[in-house]
Amino acid sequence: MSSFDFDLFVIGGGSGGVRAARMAAGRGARVALAETLGTDGLGGTCVNVGCIPKKLYSYAAHYHDAFNESRGFGWELDGAPTFNWSTLKANRAKEIGRLNGVYANLLRGSGVTVLNGFARIDGPHALTVATLNADGTPGHQSFTAANILIATGGTPFVPHFTGREHVITSNEVFDLEPFPQRLLVVGGGYIACEFASIFNGLGAKVTQLYRGEQVLRGFDDEIRHFVAGEMVKTGVDLRLNADVVDVRKTDEGLHVECEGGNTVMADAVLYATGRKPNVQGLGLEAVGVAQGAQGEVMVDEHYRTNVPSIWAVGDVTNRVQLTPVALGEAMVVVDQLFGPAPGKTPRSMGYEFIPTAVFTHPSIGTVGYSEAQAREKFGAVTVFRSEFKALRHTLSGSSERTLMKLIVDTASDRVVGLHMVGAEAGEIVQGFAVAMKAGATKAVFDSTIGIHPTAAEEFVTMREPVKS
Ligand code: FAD
Ligand code: NDP
Repeated sequence: MSSFDFDLFVIGGGSGGVRAARMAAGRGARVALAETLGTDGLGGTCVNVGCIPKKLYSYAAHYHDAFNESRGFGWELDGAPTFNWSTLKANRAKEIGRLNGVYANLLRGSGVTVLNGFARIDGPHALTVATLNADGTPGHQSFTAANILIATGGTPFVPHFTGREHVITSNEVFDLEPFPQRLLVVGGGYIACEFASIFNGLGAKVTQLYRGEQVLRGFDDEIRHFVAGEMVKTGVDLRLNADVVDVRKTDEGLHVECEGGNTVMADAVLYATGRKPNVQGLGLEAVGVAQGAQGEVMVDEHYRTNVPSIWAVGDVTNRVQLTPVALGEAMVVVDQLFGPAPGKTPRSMGYEFIPTAVFTHPSIGTVGYSEAQAREKFGAVTVFRSEFKALRHTLSGSSERTLMKLIVDTASDRVVGLHMVGAEAGEIVQGFAVAMKAGATKAVFDSTIGIHPTAAEEFVTMREPVKS
């Protein structure tokens, strides 16, 4: 047994940290995990202020359409259903509290020492955790560890402008009080688009400002235009090439002045303009851990920093900011440090063909290359496309349309991009991602029997290319 207090000390109890701590303890390592927010914060961004509460609110917003659409299927509702924001918030808080408890039990059940407090790195093998003494006064505890894993995630970034103190971020949006009848969302990424859809569905008048030509930069261009069009159809007032100059508090609400002189009045302004790595006060400079321009921790393919005993995974490395990616990276570190699971080889992470969904209304599901990226990488590509009204909407009265797109590398016939805008896009695309990881060709897609009647079957019945 080493002379260190722990074999692995994990900083941060989010997606990556909890996974690494549990798996390492499962391999027999002596593991500690420090979380600033204490056991109430276990689960990190995803559980507390990210994926999970966001998806719950997205479900809530979908009921708006479901009530309206049910009439076409014969349901008669007595008057208009009303939405109670306080009920949703309370039920969400209860569920998140339950999940925090599940995480605490999982960690303790695996034998991980859970410490409540902010951790700072003092040296390649030394840490201090700011804790509270028994009498409630601030104190600290020092530890040594053979290896340290930084899994401190990220935090919302808000640019500088006059009136910045009046705006909120995704951290505050879940508990807004009162419900914002007029919400201004700034940004054009995942969070901005998702919350524009959610609050629009919940009944707010939503305006979304994005500084560029089209939202969701980096996604397939056709998908971006299509989803933006669908969001506008649902009622989101999307303003492109627009940015905020200043925000002022008035008796009528927040007065937002935009570039070009336009103004928007809002009850709340949500800034969703990206996230920055959580590295402040971690002691990285003193110990010599190399950082990038945004402060992100630089790592090699095994997530080891330039200080051999210090590792980093997840959002703090500012690569692909998704929970399953942080989980995958954590498993690579555990395999490197403590060997693979019995009968397995050490894991590695591939960043090609990571599926992802944007939970807009309707949602996006995507895996692989956009058309433009595929042309750049593979040269000749063949594009298949299908746009239609889903069967459900033949009676629902909704004008929502679905778009599906396949990008095929012409030379190899391999399907290298699969994109969709439509209901349950994430659920549909997950399975196709397995096929694409396995190298499925268009011929394999063509020989696959569809499930009828579904929207997903379109992906295996597209015969005529629209472009090659
Ligand atoms: P985190 O989960 O952020 O955990 C870091 C933890 O470290 C935090 O709990 C923090 O309190 C703690 N910490 C920080 N510094 C210290 C310190 N010095 N000492 C002790 N503790 C510390 N991803 C998806 O895949 N799907 C989604 O639908 C999705 N939706 C999202 C919605 C929103 C609104 C946001 C903001 C993010 C969403 N994400 C989603 C991204 C996902 O939440 C992150 O990629 C993921 O949580 C990253 O995990 P992590 O372990 O790197 O960091
Ligand atoms: P994104 O990086 O996705 O989007 C940031 C947006 O803010 C972009 O539209 C960007 O514009 C804009 N922006 C950046 N700086 C400024 C500025 N100074 N002024 C005005 N606009 C600005 O970040 P998010 O905050 O939306 O989300 C963070 C990450 O969390 C995502 O990238 C994703 O990985 C993850 N996430 C995943 C979800 C999911 O899986 N469903 C849901 C939510 C988050 P431009 O494009 O022009 O740079």
